[in-house]
Amino acid sequence: LFITIEGPDGSGKTTQMKKIEEYFTAKGYEVVITREPGGTRIGEKIREIILDKNHVEMDNITEALLYAASRAQHVAEVIKPAVENGKIVICDRFVDSSLVYQGVGRNLGVALVEGINQVAIQGIMPDITFLFKLSPQIGIQRKFSQGNEDRLEREKIDFHRRVFEGYMQLEALYPQRIRGIDASRTIQEVHEEIIGHIEELLES
Ligand code: C5P
Ligand code: MG
Repeated sequence: LFITIEGPDGSGKTTQMKKIEEYFTAKGYEVVITREPGGTRIGEKIREIILDKNHVEMDNITEALLYAASRAQHVAEVIKPAVENGKIVICDRFVDSSLVYQGVGRNLGVALVEGINQVAIQGIMPDITFLFKLSPQIGIQRKFSQGNEDRLEREKIDFHRRVFEGYMQLEALYPQRIRGIDASRTIQEVHEEIIGHIEELLES
């Protein structure tokens, strides 16, 4: 089973991932918890390049290719083998992030970014994706109040609004796979809704 979590920066993805992991571990499943960009030794190095605040000159295509390169390594080294061995893989961001951040946010176009990623993902797509919905203003404010915002989080609010719009469009395109989650609620409320969806999926 391959589960991904998507949504704006600061929407609580990482917190919820850990709670989903606890849920599956308690049930005796083998769980692999991972993230993008990153998730492998090579991928984490690429992540450093992408998120470095000093890399203000990064070209949009370069950025899209770096995310795809990180993803190619991640799929080949971690995701594909784990899914094939019957493990539960929970990933913080996947190709949907690229479609909306680079495709919509950077205006490269969803089709172009999809093309770049096709070779990276080897046909592997999530069984279910939780899309955390939280106003981009609130999410970004959280990041800035923590004082550790990365190069992307430093983008103008307009960029983050476009990204959010992009997510809404993806959700409309793939209603079967993508489940919207109101992330403005408490940690426990959000967790319970997610578990409800997962149990539904496991029974189907
Ligand atoms: O979720 P996390 O904060 O770890 O993601 C790292 C950064 O990369 C975020 O600021 C996110 O907005 C950005 N990102 C992106 N394009 C992707 C994936 C992540 O711009 N495809
Ligand atoms: Mg972030």
